[in-house]
Amino acid sequence: MPRHDMTKQNPLLIDGGESPSFHRIAPEHAVPAIEARLSEGRALVSEVSNTSHPSWSSVVTPLEAADDRLGQSWAPIRHLHAVADTPAWRRAYNHCLTLLEAYRTERGQNDALYRLYEALSTHPEAPGYSPAQRKTIEDALREFRLAGVDLCGPDKARFKALSADLAELGSRFGENVLDATQGWRKHLTRPETLAGLPDTVMALARARAEREGREGWLLTLDFPVYSGVMNHALDRSLREEVYEAYVTRASDQSPNAGKWDNAPLIEAILTKRHELARLCGFASYAEYSLARKMADSPEQVRSFLADLARRSKPVAERERADLEEYAREDLGLDSLQAWDVAFAAEQLRQARFSLSQEALRPYFPLPKVLDGLFTVTSRLFGVSITGTAAETWAPEVQCFEIRDRDGERLGSFYLDAFARDGKRGGAWMDECVGRRRTERGIQHPIAFLSCNFAPPVGGGPSLLTHEEVLTLFHEFGHGLHHLLTRVDIAAVSGINGVPWDAVELPSQFLENWCWEEEGLALVSAHVQTGEALPADLIRRLRKARSFMAGMQMVRQIEFALLDLRAHAETAPGTRRSILALHAEVRAEVAVIEPPCYNRFANAFTHIFSGGYACGYYSYKWAEVLAADAFARFEEEGLFDEKCGQAFRQSILERGGSEDAMALFREFRGRAPDIRALLRHRGIDRTAPGQPRG
Ligand code: ZN
Repeated sequence: MPRHDMTKQNPLLIDGGESPSFHRIAPEHAVPAIEARLSEGRALVSEVSNTSHPSWSSVVTPLEAADDRLGQSWAPIRHLHAVADTPAWRRAYNHCLTLLEAYRTERGQNDALYRLYEALSTHPEAPGYSPAQRKTIEDALREFRLAGVDLCGPDKARFKALSADLAELGSRFGENVLDATQGWRKHLTRPETLAGLPDTVMALARARAEREGREGWLLTLDFPVYSGVMNHALDRSLREEVYEAYVTRASDQSPNAGKWDNAPLIEAILTKRHELARLCGFASYAEYSLARKMADSPEQVRSFLADLARRSKPVAERERADLEEYAREDLGLDSLQAWDVAFAAEQLRQARFSLSQEALRPYFPLPKVLDGLFTVTSRLFGVSITGTAAETWAPEVQCFEIRDRDGERLGSFYLDAFARDGKRGGAWMDECVGRRRTERGIQHPIAFLSCNFAPPVGGGPSLLTHEEVLTLFHEFGHGLHHLLTRVDIAAVSGINGVPWDAVELPSQFLENWCWEEEGLALVSAHVQTGEALPADLIRRLRKARSFMAGMQMVRQIEFALLDLRAHAETAPGTRRSILALHAEVRAEVAVIEPPCYNRFANAFTHIFSGGYACGYYSYKWAEVLAADAFARFEEEGLFDEKCGQAFRQSILERGGSEDAMALFREFRGRAPDIRALLRHRGIDRTAPGQPRG
């Protein structure tokens, strides 16, 4: 079919902020739609680049509109690939990804465009720009610079070569980890060796064996199997064997010593990242990475982590002593080894709280949880949420509309709650349409919320665990950040333009209502009796929240410090091997001494093949922001209206339109304080700000 016909009928080329027409969209529409948008984008970029009188309306406005059209074509493709995957969608998606990546690189290194944005920042109109306009230009200039746009000829070529090398090294690093993970297995035929493993893990191991036409069970290093063994296997030597295989993946240590060794790649990646950062004028890759983040400097992150460690380590040490004693007396383990820690902790958790997530399910039927979630949202932020009819991609998907107190429409969202064949695992929020002002008025935001809860069976509702209730609140928090935005420029509205280390603030923040009695009363109703979660269960749930929190905290800090220091201390001559560095970091913060064959860094994909390079601290950073923001509600009232409005106005409505720290300060009246997080985790019980009555 000729291209123009395809374009005319292509449902992915309809824009204007409408909900996509899911029934009409097929994989064969994807590539032609993206190609059409990209050629439109390229034509526009070259037209705009020739502007002799750059202004907001001659440069930013047309580019923003084109990017938005591209975004509206791409969002349904990305989404359908994630929730209704087929081989055809996967091919179409990957093809589009390659096209988009090339376009992004081209745009980032477009010198003419960069000069136009520079001109705009000093334009006579500039003093009159709104904060959102200023931030849009600042962000764009920063991205150009981080893409090496203003380097001289040879440096620019070197930058490109380094970027290409790093992309390749990163993907080889990930492939080695994957191959090493899949390159180990253990075949077992005697069920007593597997004693203690949960049914789900047994079923996975059984299915693996069956697939290979073997009797018994096949253990692998896939995370569900690995963590199942470490947490539950009664056989200590089995735990030890699986532990050793897991922590030596992609290394020079046995059982697959040297086969997929990532050590040389780590050295190459750190060296090249350092060179790339230096080219762009930064002292280290840590500084380069932080240029996009809320944290100001490596020193600031370092002292943040050191402070957390200083307060958490004594607690972690007490927990370890407690665990050692329990392991000795009750489990007959004379010395607590690295492969005993998770197992002993799980046994102790059961002994102490006898609280199983499964037993909580009857209290959390999904319709009740949703009702409670919407009530919490409405009481906090004064908005109302109602179901609407809209075309979706699967019959069980629901659509909702969100309106302000005065009835003004704010946005809408899809909720795809249940696990299904062809749907990616986990839970996430994604943008379908972003808010912006167009010539026709306001384009309202639309969000996708996806979870993987067990579908309803036997006519009853789907029943959630408490962890799943937290997941729903978490994703909904991201959703509110996208939907309640008041920003009129797409590049900085909703979660766009929000730095990596601040984006988890609204999501983690909203989870807090599921730990409070008043919040739990709104989201729970026993499926048979209608009874809310009883006080005794609430008490146990809250106590279990801080179980081993100190040990978990220092473990996360260890990884974050390793990541930070590996990228900050990279000057030639002073750099230590990653192994030596890790040993130093452990000596500072860890409370468990792993065996000397442990090669954790060799499989640290977050930082060597994912997007977390010098960003692992973000997990803790955002937790501090979320806990401290919630602490204001503890001080002023869990459902205090003024407080809810303040959070809405300072955080949710402003998106990425202003500096994240400035927005936090506006809401809290001061800089973030780590004590709320420590108190919530039971690490520092003496901190002020205890909840009122
Ligand atoms: Zn999140």
